[in-house]
Amino acid sequence: MTLDPTYRLGGAAGWRAIRGGDALASVELKSLTKRYGTAAAVDAVSLEIAHGQLVCLLGPSGCGKTTTLRLIAGFIEPTEGEIIVGGRVVSSPKRTEPPERRNMSMIFQSYALWPHMTVAENVGYGLSIRKLASHVIADKVKAILGVARLEHLAARYPGELSGGQQQRVSLARALVVEPETLLMDEPLSNLDANLREEMRFEIRRLHDAFKTTTVYVTHDQSEAMTTADLIAVMNGGRIEQLGTPEAIYDRPVSEFVARFIGASNVITGTALDASHVQVAGVALATTGRVLTAGVKVPVSIRQHDVTLETTAPPAGATNRIKAVVKRQVFLGASRDYLVALDDGSEIRLSTAAGQNVATGSAVWLHLPPERCLALER
Ligand code: ADP
Ligand code: MG
Repeated sequence: MTLDPTYRLGGAAGWRAIRGGDALASVELKSLTKRYGTAAAVDAVSLEIAHGQLVCLLGPSGCGKTTTLRLIAGFIEPTEGEIIVGGRVVSSPKRTEPPERRNMSMIFQSYALWPHMTVAENVGYGLSIRKLASHVIADKVKAILGVARLEHLAARYPGELSGGQQQRVSLARALVVEPETLLMDEPLSNLDANLREEMRFEIRRLHDAFKTTTVYVTHDQSEAMTTADLIAVMNGGRIEQLGTPEAIYDRPVSEFVARFIGASNVITGTALDASHVQVAGVALATTGRVLTAGVKVPVSIRQHDVTLETTAPPAGATNRIKAVVKRQVFLGASRDYLVALDDGSEIRLSTAAGQNVATGSAVWLHLPPERCLALER
C-alpha cells in the first residue's frame, strides 16, 4: 500500500481538540471483524488500549495485523463491530469516519519522505498545512529534531541519510503534529539487523517521552518485547493472548503462542491425572492447567530449561526421559542440541558450550516439572 503521507496529518479540528487538551485517546476495538468474501481477515477482535499505552500486535504474516491497523486508521470499514477512540465511535458498519477526520499518524516500513524537502521541511510540513505561524513551526520542528537526535541533519535531504536516520525522520514527522494515536506497521523491517535493534530502543524512548497512544504491528517477537507495554498475539485474524511481555513469555496459553514466542518445545502426550502427562513412556509431572485423565495435552518447555545428562538418573528420579543426540552445534556462548525421544518426537535444547556430547550418544533429559507447562490444545 502506498499512500500520500499527508493523510496522516488529521484535520484542523482534531488539532484544536488536542491543543485544547480535552482529547483522551484511548482506543477500543469491539468485536471488530473484516471479511473479504467469506474469509475473515480480522475475526471478532476486542481490545482496549489505554491512553498513553503502546500495544503491539504480534503474529505471523497473514494473521490480520495490517488489516486491524487499517481499520483503526479508517482506510477500510469494518464488516462488524466498532472502533471507539476517546469515547467516540469512529468506525462501525453503519458509519466510518475518514482518516483525515481522525487525529492519527501512521508510519510504514517505507519511510515515505519527500525527496525534494530537507529533513526540517519534511518534519515541518504537517504543521505548515495546518497554517501555524512560521515561528511556532520553527520552534516545534527544532524541539522534535532535538528529541529524535536529528538536529545535525536538519538541512540534509532524505537521499543523504541512512535507513535508520530516514526512519527517525518519519517518526519525528509523525510525532510533531501531536497525534492522538500513532499507528506503526512493521516500521523497522527495512533496516538491517543491528540498526533494527537500536531503533527498537529508540521507539520505546520516544514513546516514553511523548506517551502517544500507539498501536505497533510486527512479526518480530524481540521487537514486541522491547517496545510494548502489552502484546496481543494474533493468529488467524484473532487475538490468541493479550498480556505483558513477561506474562506472554512465562505463561503462554496455547501451543501457538508457546511456539511463536521464545524458543519452546511442544511435546504432546496423554494426561494420566490432573498433573501428569504420559510422554514417550514416561509420566511427566506438569504445571499449568489441571488436566483430565485420557485427554491429549501439549506440553511446552523452553530450550534453555532442559538439561542433558550422560549418566542414567538415580532410581526414583522424576521427569527424566531417555533420548538420542541427533545433532549438535557449537555456538560460541552455548551449544545447541537436537535430540529424539523413543516415540520419535524431537526436542531442542541449549547447554553450556563445554558440554560436548557426540551425535548418536544415548542421553537422559531432565525436564523440571515447574518448567513443563501444560497448554490448551
Ligand atoms: P498481516 O499484516 O498480519 O500479514 P493482513 O492483515 O495483511 O496480514 O492480511 C490478513 C489476511 O487478509 C490475509 O489472508 C490477506 O490475504 C487477507 N487480505 C488482506 N487484505 C485483503 C483484501 N483487500 N482482499 C482480500 N483479502 C485480503
Ligand atoms: Mg502486514
